[in-house]
Amino acid sequence: MNIILLGPPGAGKGTQAARLQAERGMVQLSTGDMLRAAVAKETPVGLQAKAVMDAGELVSDAIVSALIGEHLDCIGDRGAIFDGYPRTQAQAEALDLLLAERGRHLDHVIELVVDEDELVRRICGRFTCANCGAPYHDEFKRPKVDGVCDVCGSTEFKRRPDDNEATVRTRMAEYRAKTAPILPYYQQRNLVRPVDGMAPVNEVAASIDAILDS
Ligand SMILES: [Zn+2]
Repeated sequence: MNIILLGPPGAGKGTQAARLQAERGMVQLSTGDMLRAAVAKETPVGLQAKAVMDAGELVSDAIVSALIGEHLDCIGDRGAIFDGYPRTQAQAEALDLLLAERGRHLDHVIELVVDEDELVRRICGRFTCANCGAPYHDEFKRPKVDGVCDVCGSTEFKRRPDDNEATVRTRMAEYRAKTAPILPYYQQRNLVRPVDGMAPVNEVAASIDAILDS
């Protein structure tokens, strides 16, 4: 089973990918993580990538393909979850080839569909206890006593600087720009499975499981 997981930041993609790894033994192949690891380990591909990045250039599709090939060769018969790749039709075609060379194929492109305005509301209202990390939300989960953490009684809270509307909307636009080029390619092949990313986490999980078990 090999899937692509698509979803904007804040849609819960990381949560679902972690769960699929834990529950199904799948392996998440995130190109960003793989690149950093290859560079740190100074693998042949990592050294090549480092030279390109040090020169201030973008890592080529050939390098990314080589990296993914290396990882696919290491994961045995476990399923792969592609994250952050492919981003162009050329990369999508390269991925098909990489998989075919290893007797694999892509089973599903799972798209966590979100309502942008609702996502902004959810993300921008988040805050956490500065002491114990308990999560709160301006609208959906205020402390029982205003300004006092339910869990530890602390009166200090913090917000992530990224959790503001401008940042969230910029990230959404980036996400749309990255997925727009590949969705038609996979839609044509009838591989795109939209999942309501605004549903509660366990319902999103159930929807994804139903797709993987179908
Ligand atoms: Zn607390």
